[in-house]
Amino acid sequence: MHVLISGAGVAGPALAYWLRRGGHAVTVVERAPGLREGGHAVDFRGAAHLGVLRRMGVLEEIERRRTGMGAMYYVNESGRRVSRMPADLFAGDVEILRGDLGRILYDATAPIGVQYRFGDAITALHEDEDGVTVAFERAPAARYDLVVGADGLHSAVRALAFGPEERYVHHLGLHCAIFPVGNFLGLDHTAEAYRTTSKVVIVASANHNAEARAQLFLPTPARLPDRRDADAQRRAVAEAFAGIGWQTPRLLEAMFKTPEWYFDSVAQVRMPRWSTGRVTLLGDAAYSPCLLSGMGSGLAVVGAYVLAGELDRHPGDPAAAFAAYERIMRPYAEGAQQGAEGTSRMMVPQGRLLTAFLNQYIRLVPYLPGKKMIADAARRTAEAVRMPEYA
Ligand SMILES: Cc1cc2nc3c(=O)[nH]c(=O)nc-3n(C[C@H](O)[C@H](O)[C@H](O)COP(=O)(O)OP(=O)(O)OC[C@H]3O[C@@H](n4cnc5c(N)ncnc54)[C@H](O)[C@@H]3O)c2cc1C
Repeated sequence: MHVLISGAGVAGPALAYWLRRGGHAVTVVERAPGLREGGHAVDFRGAAHLGVLRRMGVLEEIERRRTGMGAMYYVNESGRRVSRMPADLFAGDVEILRGDLGRILYDATAPIGVQYRFGDAITALHEDEDGVTVAFERAPAARYDLVVGADGLHSAVRALAFGPEERYVHHLGLHCAIFPVGNFLGLDHTAEAYRTTSKVVIVASANHNAEARAQLFLPTPARLPDRRDADAQRRAVAEAFAGIGWQTPRLLEAMFKTPEWYFDSVAQVRMPRWSTGRVTLLGDAAYSPCLLSGMGSGLAVVGAYVLAGELDRHPGDPAAAFAAYERIMRPYAEGAQQGAEGTSRMMVPQGRLLTAFLNQYIRLVPYLPGKKMIADAARRTAEAVRMPEYA
């Protein structure tokens, strides 16, 4: 088959790897002009995630590039550390910068013949009995046997094949801005977090302390700036965080100086089905569990493995393959989505009273007898999939 994948994030290259290994021709079209560097870090946890990465032959390199982050400290307005969250409370088995992961997956796929086309995007899909004719913004139209939307939360393939994203994207009331800053706090494989009413500011060391990344969580602005207008987004963030203490003014200054920028809704994708005809969705496009879940990349690589495996098991019958892929992945993805609303409310509490309560509560967390339950529950969620063995 010749398969077109939209999106060279995590899910797209992971699927491309398996399809290419299965002998298919694969083209990946990515809207950005190159691999995207933005964001901070993603986690993999449990045997399912690590097993797929091992089979892809990338686990060693991912482990080599792991962030090696330790505890996170909550600080008060003057920067005094008031509470320590040990890494084993929230971290996965391997944490890696999102940009490093993208590069590793690209390097594992480009040399085996996956064709990448950057700076282009799908504009139309016309399906008939034996294929899909696809129109692009730049390249001439072409025919494919299958089209896979691995183009993230705001998937264009989903919009073309299933309708507008308002039907499927469930916003959890928060936005997150991520950008690099100098490691001016001298953080050593650690992060500091400052929580105030309806805002959270986190600074984490990155690239083994060579730099740091700021993550700013805020309630979704009433007037949301255009998704493609990074300057308007920066202005909205600056407005929301004006007057916030700790190191926030310094971070806002840095925010306007860096071109590397991520700003998006903390949101889930919930769809009644992920496939129609010869088109299917994968990763965040189909079942985003949200940025706070720590499961997005794990679900993406496991989904890629299952989708490719089922296509192999059902040659010439994409409908059967897509149905089997969804049967395996849906309960897994829905399990990962559970609890996200509660997490986002606790992460960025609205109201001074709840904020004050949480700021006291986090001081106790490291001493609570049941604290390991959080990490254990995350592990169980990450393991809750029956991983098929494919030829
Ligand atoms: C820049 C960036 C930074 C991120 N940082 C973090 C982070 O710090 N922590 C975290 O937990 N998660 C982060 N995520 C989300 C995380 O990568 C995903 O939840 C997870 O890895 C699943 O990956 P995905 O490939 O399904 O989606 P994504 O990683 O979102 O990748 C989707 C890809 O599709 C591309 N795309 C979008 N629209 C089109 C289009 N119309 N045509 C072609 N290509 C298109 C995007 O440019 C992107 O490369 C980030 C995502 C991005 C895009």
